[in-house]
Amino acid sequence: MSKIIKVENVTFEYQKYDEEATVKALDTINLEIEEGQFVALIGRNGSGKSTLSKLLNGLLVPTEGKVYVNGYDVSNEETLLNVRQSCGMVFQNPDNQLVSSIVEDDVAFGPENLGVDPKEIRERVDSALKAVNMYDYRLKPPHLLSGGQKQRIAVAGVIAMKPKCIIFDEPTAMLDPKGRKDIMRIIHDLHEEGKTIILVTHFMDEAILSDRVVILDRGKILLDGTPKEVFSNAEIIKEASLELPMEIELKTRLKKEGIELPEDVFRSEEIIDYLCQLK
Ligand code: ADP
Ligand code: MG
Repeated sequence: MSKIIKVENVTFEYQKYDEEATVKALDTINLEIEEGQFVALIGRNGSGKSTLSKLLNGLLVPTEGKVYVNGYDVSNEETLLNVRQSCGMVFQNPDNQLVSSIVEDDVAFGPENLGVDPKEIRERVDSALKAVNMYDYRLKPPHLLSGGQKQRIAVAGVIAMKPKCIIFDEPTAMLDPKGRKDIMRIIHDLHEEGKTIILVTHFMDEAILSDRVVILDRGKILLDGTPKEVFSNAEIIKEASLELPMEIELKTRLKKEGIELPEDVFRSEEIIDYLCQLK
């Protein structure tokens, strides 16, 4: 398996223009992500999640250390387009990501910037809009769409660039439950197609469905492992001001009541199936 992301001893400091002081948002981070992995990145507000996400897309460059995306050094300006093409990004607020007055122009924006042939752009735009179930809205102005629909358009814009990896920075935080469910379905579909997914989230029920959970705390990696491994550290997680997934709380409570579930049963459907076959 090849590593799509390599973060080596990375520190990132924001400069405060009005003062001498700097804010150390990331402190000596090391992280490697294999192609095809689904990584959930969690941590309290201000722990450095968005900063790390922006480094993985070349929107920021490290103060110290190296970030490689698909083999390209994000600090090298000459290959920045390769970085952006390899690793796309979807942000929290869809309104800040849509730039055109017609949906299909918006989706075409990314591939146009990459210099893709116009005929191929047409095909990519149509197929990306179909992938997010928004093809029928291709000629509409984005401002008439719901938040969830706008976010699907933003995702289509990234899909049309054909990246190997997509970073989602709290993509469902501003959406209603239906909008959130639609986006999560699309993210899981993209993962099944083979895309590497990095999902920044504060929803533990989203994190538990990943291959790997990385917890950031004050700019450092606190825990890194499978959901089962990471969420078994209840004390550390609570100290980092994070909730445990409801599924884990439920298992602990059931154990107290004398019902011990097997270790590999920890996703909600698995728990329900297990409990139903008990009676
Ligand atoms: P998260 O996404 O986990 O909430 P961020 O990466 O946004 O965390 O922020 C990490 C730290 O960097 C915080 O202390 C935050 O206040 C600071 N920070 C973020 N953006 C800026 C900025 N543009 N200028 C100065 N400090 C910033
Ligand atoms: Mg953030």
